[in-house]
Amino acid sequence: MNNFGPKSTREHECRLCPELVASRTQIVFPTPCPPGGLLAIGEAPGMEEDDIGEGFVGRAGRTLDALLVQYGIERNRDYGVANIVRCRPKDNRKPYKHETDNCLLWLSIFLLRNRPKVLLLVGSMATEVFLGPGPLYWHIERSRKSPVLLAKDALPTLRHAIRLLHGMLDGVFAVPMPHTSGMAWNRRAPNGKVWREIGEEQVELAVECLKSSHVT
Ligand code: SF4
Repeated sequence: MNNFGPKSTREHECRLCPELVASRTQIVFPTPCPPGGLLAIGEAPGMEEDDIGEGFVGRAGRTLDALLVQYGIERNRDYGVANIVRCRPKDNRKPYKHETDNCLLWLSIFLLRNRPKVLLLVGSMATEVFLGPGPLYWHIERSRKSPVLLAKDALPTLRHAIRLLHGMLDGVFAVPMPHTSGMAWNRRAPNGKVWREIGEEQVELAVECLKSSHVT
């Protein structure tokens, strides 16, 4: 036993990551999407999410909400949200690799329960977990050629779930986009555009994927 008590692997009292158990107020569970819907996936809960117990409720989450509402896509009805790790890291540090590995087990289960067709990967970390290493801008350009999510690109913990999803849904898409926080949103990307413009274009691509009936 450590200072944080016995490790529990049950979803509602998970204590697999001692540092995150110490820094969290509560576990922030994903919000489901309808089968075949869109799931936005970020890195980890921030302060507001940790307080309220719901993902994407801070300013950055509201920005994403507003972008999707323009296309008639509403949270809880048409799209859901999740994070790579469910517990808030202290001072918003990046999650460690073992924490990511631990929590991806939960995310795999969630993906299979909810069967999203489009994963909107918000920020570099979520993008690399599903699409492999590489700069965000490179992944964005690649997604414009083909947004089909390939299991081989994802971290090993996710591959089986992605293969099963492809079988269930006749294809799954992944669309990376920049983080919607004010700081990231207003910087310039390598092509000279502000990241906000690129983010808006990626949301449009995600909506096109959602409306398409099969993978091409
Ligand atoms: S981050 Fe995920 S795996 Fe780690 S303690 Fe929280 S719920 Fe459990």
